[in-house]
Amino acid sequence: MTIANRIFDIAVLPGDGIGPEVIEATMPLLEKLAHNAAYGFRFASYPAGAQHYKATGDALPEATFEAARAADAILFGAMGWPEIRYEDGTEIAPQLDLRVRLDLYAGVRPARVIPGVKLPLADPRAANIDLVVIRESTEGLFTSRGKGEVIEDREVRDTMVITRHGSERVHDFSFRLAERRHRTRGRPGAVTCVDKANVFRSMAFFRKIFDERAVRFPGVEARHNYIDATALDMIRKPWDYDVMVMENMYGDILSDLTAGLVGGMGMAPSGDVGDDHALFQPCHGSAPDIAGEGKANPTAMILSAAMMLDWLAERNGIDALAEDAMRIERAVDAVFASGTLKPFEFGGRDGTRAIAAAVASNL
Ligand code: ATP
Repeated sequence: MTIANRIFDIAVLPGDGIGPEVIEATMPLLEKLAHNAAYGFRFASYPAGAQHYKATGDALPEATFEAARAADAILFGAMGWPEIRYEDGTEIAPQLDLRVRLDLYAGVRPARVIPGVKLPLADPRAANIDLVVIRESTEGLFTSRGKGEVIEDREVRDTMVITRHGSERVHDFSFRLAERRHRTRGRPGAVTCVDKANVFRSMAFFRKIFDERAVRFPGVEARHNYIDATALDMIRKPWDYDVMVMENMYGDILSDLTAGLVGGMGMAPSGDVGDDHALFQPCHGSAPDIAGEGKANPTAMILSAAMMLDWLAERNGIDALAEDAMRIERAVDAVFASGTLKPFEFGGRDGTRAIAAAVASNL
C-alpha cells in the first residue's frame, strides 16, 4: 500500500563531537531519497548533550524532550564528552534518559557484514555474519543507574531488576523481528535468549518468560544460551546466530563485541524502539579524539537512518520507505565492495564527506 505525500516530522539531535558531523553527512541522503517519493521529511534540530550541559547546566532541555516525543521519529548523532560530567562523576548521557522517558525498550543492534570491509575473524564463514542483538533497555542492571545503594565507604549495591512486563514485550519484539527478517531477508527465523539462568533467579525468570512467549510464535525457532558461552560463540561461530535477546547490561557489552565483528564502531547502526516512539543512532560515541577533523566514518549513522526508514515503513504501511531503506544498504554495500574507498577508521584517507558522497552517488 502506498499513501501519497505523507510527511514525517523528524527530530534531529546532533549532540557532541562527531555526532553533528555524521548527522550532516546523512540528512542529504534522506532528502535525496524523499525527493521523488510518496513520502517526505520535515527535519528540525534540537540542542542536547555534554557541551550543551556545560553551556547551560541542562543536558536535555525540556523543549528538546517534548519535540522528540512529538516527532514521528528521532535521529540522534552522539552525546557525551569525557571531561564534562555530572557532579557524581558520571558522564552526560541523555540517550539513556530518552530510552527511559520514551519507553524505548528494545535496543536493536544489527551486525551485518558489508562486503569488502576487512573483518577481524579469518574464517571465511565470517562473511555470513548477519545477526541482531536486542538489548532490553529500560530495566535489568541499568535500573540502578544513579541510584545504587552506597553503604558508607565499604559497600555499594547495584540491583538487577527483571519484570514480567519488561520481559514479555522485549521477547515478543524479538520474535516479531525474527519473523520479519525471515520474510524480507531470508534469514533463518531464530531467536536466542542469552542469559545466566544457571546462576541468577532474575535470569531464570527472564528465560522462563522467553519460553512462555515462544509458544505464540511457532514459526520461529527459540534457542537458549548462557552469556559466557555466547561470548565464546561470537568468536567461534557468530554466523550461526540470527536474533539474540538479552538484559540491558549483557546487551551493552555484547553489542560492542558484535560491532567489532563486522568492522568497527563506524559501521554499526542501532535503533532504540518502543511501542510509540523510536530513536536511531550509530553505536559509536562522540569520538573526541577525531572530532572536528572530518575523519569520522558516517556509515553507522547512514545505516541507522535506513533502520528509521524501515521502522516508519512497517509502522505506516508505506512500502516505498522499506524499499528506500534497502536502497541505502545496497548503496553502502556497493561503496565498500568496490574497494575504492578506505575510511580513516581502517587506516585509509577517506573522511566523512567522501564516504557520504560515494553512498549518495550509488543511491
Ligand atoms: P561511548 O561510551 O560514548 O559510546 P566510547 O567511549 O565507546 O563512547 P567512541 O566515541 O565510540 O567511544 O570511540 C571509540 C573509538 O572508536 C575512538 O578511538 C574513536 O575515534 C573511534 N570511532 C568511533 N566512532 C567512529 C567513527 N564513526 N569513525 C571513525 N572512528 C570512530
